[in-house]
Amino acid sequence: MNEQVKRFLFERFLLLMEDNHMKNLLRNKKVKLSGLLTTLVSISVLLTIIILLISVHQSEREFMEETHLSLNYSKVKKISQTVDNLFVSMSMSLQEITNYIASHEGLTDDEIQEQLEIYRNSGRYFNSVAWVDQTGLVRNIAPSSVGLRGHRITTGVTKEILDNKTPALSDPYIAPTGRLILLISKPLYNSRGQYKGMIAGTIYLHEKNVLNEILGNDVIEENGSYYYVVGPEGNILFHPISKRIGENVKSNTVVEKIMQGKSGMEQVTNTNGIPMLAAYSYVPEIGWGVVQQTPVSFIDKVILSHHVKMILYMLAPFLIILMISILIARKLAAPFKNLAEIVNRVAEGKSVTIPDDQTHWNWEAEMLTKSARIAIKAVQENNERLMATATTDALTNIPNRSKLNTIMENLADINQVFSIVVIDIDRFKDVNDTYGHQKGDEVLKFLANMLKTASRKEDFYFRYGGEEFVLLLPQTKSKEAFLVAEKIRLKVEKTDSPVGSPITISLGIAEFPKNSGKLEELFSKADKALYESKLNGRNRTTIWNDKKSHSKNNKVE
Ligand code: GH3
Ligand code: MG
Ligand code: MG
Repeated sequence: MNEQVKRFLFERFLLLMEDNHMKNLLRNKKVKLSGLLTTLVSISVLLTIIILLISVHQSEREFMEETHLSLNYSKVKKISQTVDNLFVSMSMSLQEITNYIASHEGLTDDEIQEQLEIYRNSGRYFNSVAWVDQTGLVRNIAPSSVGLRGHRITTGVTKEILDNKTPALSDPYIAPTGRLILLISKPLYNSRGQYKGMIAGTIYLHEKNVLNEILGNDVIEENGSYYYVVGPEGNILFHPISKRIGENVKSNTVVEKIMQGKSGMEQVTNTNGIPMLAAYSYVPEIGWGVVQQTPVSFIDKVILSHHVKMILYMLAPFLIILMISILIARKLAAPFKNLAEIVNRVAEGKSVTIPDDQTHWNWEAEMLTKSARIAIKAVQENNERLMATATTDALTNIPNRSKLNTIMENLADINQVFSIVVIDIDRFKDVNDTYGHQKGDEVLKFLANMLKTASRKEDFYFRYGGEEFVLLLPQTKSKEAFLVAEKIRLKVEKTDSPVGSPITISLGIAEFPKNSGKLEELFSKADKALYESKLNGRNRTTIWNDKKSHSKNNKVE
């Protein structure tokens, strides 16, 4: 097929498709349907997972924060209750020993010492118990190992409490022994109402004491939760990190609230700058506060591990969905790919088999295949029509010069022997001049018909142009061709043409490859042989003769 016809067919096909996208797809490489679908599915599944994770994260976080805050709150309530009960019991028991000493005025100092020793050992509330008289003299102290017996207290917190003559609970302070202590005291009056000093119990905050015995079992939980107890001025009385005991933390948000007598729960940043879920409870009787807090990072850690689990659970279905979508995408794209390949072949002018009329499960693919079938059929029919038109002579309806060239080339390609007979009507100009052009045309048709009927069935005949015709005789040497040519010439000579009388023709023969292996030269030799026939009086056949380097008139009279 020549380049122009191919191009024309291709453009026609594109027009038939009436789709610019189709043109682009054929000309450029674009996104593949399978890739597109896989990407879309991946993006939508990933987005779903992300949205799901975000929303789960939000609600789970809120839920866990609330849960931990209320858990912490119920814990501080319990602890503050414990602390309160402890204080009440300590206070009552100290009152009892004070009452005992007050009601036994006859007891000597040593006997009181003995009582205090028994009391301290049995109650285990206090690290030490002392009788400090109204002058500040430490009359007794149990255990005696404290070493303060006989020591006079003249200044400091202890002296202030002594001089107040009322029941007291101190803030932590450094005692004359250098220890950080808490002091609980009861005033001692004799039966006559005279002030005899105070009975004081102490808690050594940095040593094993009743507070850490009761509160200090859990210390720091696995999740990082812990609690601490502060005094009325914001001093730490109990803390799992013992070196922090005594530290003043009144600047801490929740401690501030405790000091205002409030209980509650909220997220705060602790003294070390770590975000915490804190619950706090105020103990009204003693002005202390209990704080329980859980690091927010624990919740983040739990949520993260949940998310990792969730992602792992979702991974399998995600991969399955992805595989299914890849399979579907491939199945979906297959008919389009096939069609594209067929269209490409059409565009390249190659032969194509029209796609099957099979039904596709995909509606678009079926529609496109149907349209493509119609389009390709139309293109092929057009193609055939155009090919026929391009190779057929319009007047005589026999093959034309173009067809002759094609067949000659094909035979030459396989190096097959053949002869060509060039035929020219004698004095045809006269026919036109005498009977008119139309009659002339009829004569041309008549001669075409004669060639058709008089030639052998394996021979080809063509209108070369004007009033010239060509016979192509495959596997025929020039001598044999001469016989065929003569048979035709004689038949023409004897048959009445449309003008009412016979016409005559002159013929020239050349043989391939004997006379020439080049088609143009071969044709020129046949033409020269024809010219020879004309020169020698027309109505004759001449075979080109190479030896004589000119053809010889071979008219058979
Ligand atoms: P010669 O014997 O030398 O071949 O004489 P001639 O008159 O046939 O020679 P010439 O080649 O001079 O004339 C050919 C004529 O054929 C001229 C032209 O008018 C006529 N002719 C060519 N094609 C057609 C056609 O399609 N129809 C008709 N009616 N005439 C044609
Ligand atoms: Mg001529
Ligand atoms: Mg002529």
